[in-house]
Amino acid sequence: MATENQYTLQNPLTQYPQPEFPKQPQTAPGTVHELQPKADHGETSYKGFGRLAGRKALITGADSGIGRAAAIAFAREGADIALNYLPSEEADAREVVALIEAAGRKAVAIPGDITSEAFCQALVKQAAEALGGLDIVTNVAGKQTAQKDIADLTTEQFELTFRTNVTALFWICKAALPLLPPGATIINTASIQAYQPSETLLDYAPTKSAIVAFTKALSKQVIGKGIRVNAVAPGPFWTPLQPSGGQPQDKIPAFGSETPYGRPGQPAECAPIYVLLASQESSYITGEVFGVTGGNTLP
Ligand code: NAD
Ligand code: MG
Repeated sequence: MATENQYTLQNPLTQYPQPEFPKQPQTAPGTVHELQPKADHGETSYKGFGRLAGRKALITGADSGIGRAAAIAFAREGADIALNYLPSEEADAREVVALIEAAGRKAVAIPGDITSEAFCQALVKQAAEALGGLDIVTNVAGKQTAQKDIADLTTEQFELTFRTNVTALFWICKAALPLLPPGATIINTASIQAYQPSETLLDYAPTKSAIVAFTKALSKQVIGKGIRVNAVAPGPFWTPLQPSGGQPQDKIPAFGSETPYGRPGQPAECAPIYVLLASQESSYITGEVFGVTGGNTLP
C-alpha cells in the first residue's frame, strides 16, 4: 500500500490513519488483530540494507506493537533474533517468527513473564546460547494501565508497573552485560510520559522517567567496555497497549489527536531509530534519549 511505504516522499501528516477511531476495548496484553484500523509494523514496507548483518538481538515485547516493528526491521537488516513475550501472546509471536524466518534469519521464541528475576536470567542465557552470542539487547516490553483517580490505583498495580517496566529492565541488563562484547548496544524504551506525564498514568509515567535516568547512568558505567546504552521515547503509538487498558476507553477514539501531527504514530515509524541505535552507525551516540513524538518535542 502506497501509504505504508516509508521510502516514498509524502506528507507525514496524512501518511497514516487519523482519528476518529472506533471504540475497541481489549483485555491486556491485547493483540494486534483487534486493532481498528490495522497497525503498520513494516510487514509489507520495511526494506533492509544490511545494517545489522550477523548481529544477534534479544527483543522483549516482540510479539506486537513497537517490539514487533523492531523485530521485523532487525531481521531484514540481517540480525538473528530471540523474541520474548507473554505466553498468552503466542499467536501474535508466531507471526513475528514467520516474518523473521521469511527474511532468512533465525528466530528463537522465548515466552515468559519478565516480572520474575529468575526468568529474566534464563531469558538472557537462553537467547545467547541459541544465537551463539548476544550483541543487541532491546527492552521494549512494558505495562501501562490507566487509572483516573489515585484512590483507584492499588499498591499492587503501582508495584507491578515498576517491576515490569523498571526492575525487569535492570535484571535483563544485569544478566546480559557479562555476555556483551565491545560494540554491543542496549536500547531501552522510555516514553514522552517521562517528560509530559498524563494525569491517568501516575504509576507508568514515573517508570519511564526512571528508564531515562537508568539509561543515562548505565551508559556511563559501561562506556569503558565499549558498550552503548540509549533509549527511544515514543509519543502515542497505535498498539494493543492502549485499547487494552493503557488509556481510559473514552480516549481511544481521539488517540493521537493531541499531537501536532493530529494522529498516532505507527510502529513502523519507530523501527528505524531502533535500527540506528543498534547498528555501528551510531558509534558515537550513547546515553541519549530519542523522541519519536509527532512533533511534541522532548525537553
Ligand atoms: P504492546 O502491547 O504491543 O507491547 C507491550 C509488550 O510488553 C506486550 O506485547 C508484552 O509482550 C510485553 N509485556 C508486558 N508485560 C510483560 C511481562 N510481565 N512479561 C513479558 N512481557 C511483557 O505495546 P507497545 O505500545 O508496542 O509497547 C512497547 C513499549 O513502548 C512499552 O515499553 C511501552 O511503554 C512503550 N511506549 C508505548 C507507547 C504507545 O503509545 N504505544 C508510547 C510510549 C512508550
Ligand atoms: Mg503484545
